[in-house]
Amino acid sequence: MEWLFDPPSRPSLAIAGSSKRFAVRRIWCVGRNYRAHVQEMGGDPQRDTPIFFAKPSDAILQVASGEFGQLPYPPHTADFHYEAELVVAIGQAGHNIAAEAAHAHVIGYAVGLDMTRRDAQRVAKAGGHPWELAKSFDHSAVIGELHLATEVGHRHDGKLALSVDGTARQSADLSEMIWNVPLIVAHLSRWVALAPGDLIYTGTPEGVGAVTVGQRLYASIDHLGSLAVQVVAPKSLATQADAA
Ligand code: MN
Repeated sequence: MEWLFDPPSRPSLAIAGSSKRFAVRRIWCVGRNYRAHVQEMGGDPQRDTPIFFAKPSDAILQVASGEFGQLPYPPHTADFHYEAELVVAIGQAGHNIAAEAAHAHVIGYAVGLDMTRRDAQRVAKAGGHPWELAKSFDHSAVIGELHLATEVGHRHDGKLALSVDGTARQSADLSEMIWNVPLIVAHLSRWVALAPGDLIYTGTPEGVGAVTVGQRLYASIDHLGSLAVQVVAPKSLATQADAA
């Protein structure tokens, strides 16, 4: 086959303890999945169904364990927020998956940061517009190493924590999620077919906040290791386009 231009390289994730890589297909995210965070955002935690949104697969910024990732401050925001989250990796295709069968479709887990232009999100919400550019931008899907369920089991509980420059900002237990992993997989798979390579960011607990250039973020989840990034000066979009 002859391409009109070189096809873009497929984003992929390093896996802890393995030389194989996880090719990323789609990135889904769950909104408002911890009661106290829903309240800090001015929402109502009593709902019938979870909220989903997406990021492009090339929004991935993976940080190897023991390294400091560089997270460029994005354009068009003055309120760049972290959201530490459990990320679920899908390894088996399915649709209309029953919650009881969901774990068979989950191949692993990772620590992630759903980076957000909070000011842009606020404007979008107020206008009844999509969140797209508040959530789906370059480097907005930060993720640590993928841990296979065969190694770490399926994660129902465990501490999720985030600190900024050594000060604790987020601390919760995965068991506090309004929609747990099997329910998230069940709900999402009624709307779209899931396939190997899909990632699901499962929502963040309370304590979200803004970061500025130079600050260091450290996020961890029990049994899934940690990730560390430093916010660095904005990268021009021209530079990013050249690199793509
Ligand atoms: Mn989030």
